[in-house]
Amino acid sequence: VPIPSADAVHALLEEAYDSFRDVTEGALSSAVPSLQLANPDHFGLAVMGVNGRLHERGDSRVPFTIQSVSKPFTYALVAQAHGIEFIRERIGVNATGLPFNSAQAVEQGVPGPTNPLVNAGAIATASYAVGEGVEERWSWLRNGLSRFAGRDLTLNHDVLESERATNYRNRALGNLMRSFGALTGSPLDAVEIYTRACSLEVTAADLAAMGAVLADGGVHPVTGQRVVSAEVARLTLAVMLVAGMYETSGDWLVDVGMPGKSGIGGGMVTVAPGKGAFSTFSPLLDHAGNSVRGGRVATMIGRTLGLDMLASR
Ligand code: GLN
Repeated sequence: VPIPSADAVHALLEEAYDSFRDVTEGALSSAVPSLQLANPDHFGLAVMGVNGRLHERGDSRVPFTIQSVSKPFTYALVAQAHGIEFIRERIGVNATGLPFNSAQAVEQGVPGPTNPLVNAGAIATASYAVGEGVEERWSWLRNGLSRFAGRDLTLNHDVLESERATNYRNRALGNLMRSFGALTGSPLDAVEIYTRACSLEVTAADLAAMGAVLADGGVHPVTGQRVVSAEVARLTLAVMLVAGMYETSGDWLVDVGMPGKSGIGGGMVTVAPGKGAFSTFSPLLDHAGNSVRGGRVATMIGRTLGLDMLASR
């Protein structure tokens, strides 16, 4: 299937927006208090092709916190810095089939936390951020994530404070993993770096660009900068297929047939390897923490544009 034409993409965004704007199913995340302040009506869509062309509809420039959509990109940066085999051995690439914040995932995956897209694995991944101390490692990570977006990403301090005040469970996961040697350095430093990554502000347009870097073999289609190697981009897409939607990753694969990643801020990104990426922002979530409207849009776009990787034609 060829890369869809700009007109087809534009028309489809209009159609997807109109079809799903009235969907009110789902709930705002209750995991982080400040996420309860989100506007449930917000609905933004964006597409970026590997040619760098961006299409947008609705609230595609409204900022929200990236949350777990940061996880694959952090993983890519860490795998790039330390080597694929080193990181694969330590974090793992297999499904947990468990909710994102599961502690069972840690014990199940001993000595490693199983995959980088559940909280345990993401905290372990954050522990491999390059540098000395929290500030240097955070600046390394923020710069890397900003290279994916193609612009300087900054923190939402209200969300960060709210997470820090309530992330007992993530701290427990960090400490538990430290007891197994499943992460490096101070576990609470790793949790802090992870929490900052979750609290970065992005827009749907940013997520489309970040996904497009993975679609483009690690090169940003607009800045032309190589962010990660093609091998690392492929590894990242593989773990997104396995665990991008946590315990409903199998449903996602059947419905959409492409690697994707969600976050409890309402962001979602889907990658069509070699072609481009699309993203949505809609903060009403299903029971697993995936954006309801995001899932509907991904299913529709995947089918209509013939992007489903598993379809025979
Ligand atoms: N910051 C959130 C947490 O650690 C991210 C979870 C998510 O988006 N699924 O619980």
